[in-house]
Amino acid sequence: MNSLIGTLIFLAISAVVASARAQRYAEAFAHPIGSEVCVACGGRDLIQRYPVAWVCTDCGYEQGDGWEHRRQAQHLEQLAALPPEKARERARTQLLDAHLAMLASLTPLQRPVVTEGSGRERQLVINPEILDAARNLTEAFDGIREAALLWPEAGEALRAAQFPTDGRRPDFGALYDVNTVEYASSRLRPAVAQAAQQLDRVNQTLQIAA
Ligand SMILES: [Zn+2]
Repeated sequence: MNSLIGTLIFLAISAVVASARAQRYAEAFAHPIGSEVCVACGGRDLIQRYPVAWVCTDCGYEQGDGWEHRRQAQHLEQLAALPPEKARERARTQLLDAHLAMLASLTPLQRPVVTEGSGRERQLVINPEILDAARNLTEAFDGIREAALLWPEAGEALRAAQFPTDGRRPDFGALYDVNTVEYASSRLRPAVAQAAQQLDRVNQTLQIAA
């Protein structure tokens, strides 16, 4: 009996803790993350490490956009340190891979939703290949932006083809949402097909073999 009561008390406390945590996460997403409360443990002892980047002394959680900026800056520093030959080789690979990823994504983008099960069990689900395609396309656009930085000629060729190299890329987030996936894929398919054509021309100009 005691252990049952203990379990119930434990469950009640867990539920309160979980809902307090859910509340903190909800608030963290509603407002920009600041330096006052750790969104992971609720602790208030945070140390600033970089601009807009804090670490919690209680649980070690790192919060703030500054961590991502810091990671990107370090990545760019590493790229800037590459010898020109290596940088160009990396850029070539990225442009070639990006083109292949775009072409490969066109088929799943045509089938955003698939049926699973049969009879009463039949249900519509997001085609899992769409999720892979969204991830690959995100990487492809990031790779192209990086290639433009690594290889000045590639940057020029991309800009000449009016390919966005400033970090803008289509928003693939809607592909993860069953309510919007049909619409998103019908909008994205022509955009990705056009980007693939542009990139093909860029790769031909740069003499990157397909
Ligand atoms: Zn914490």
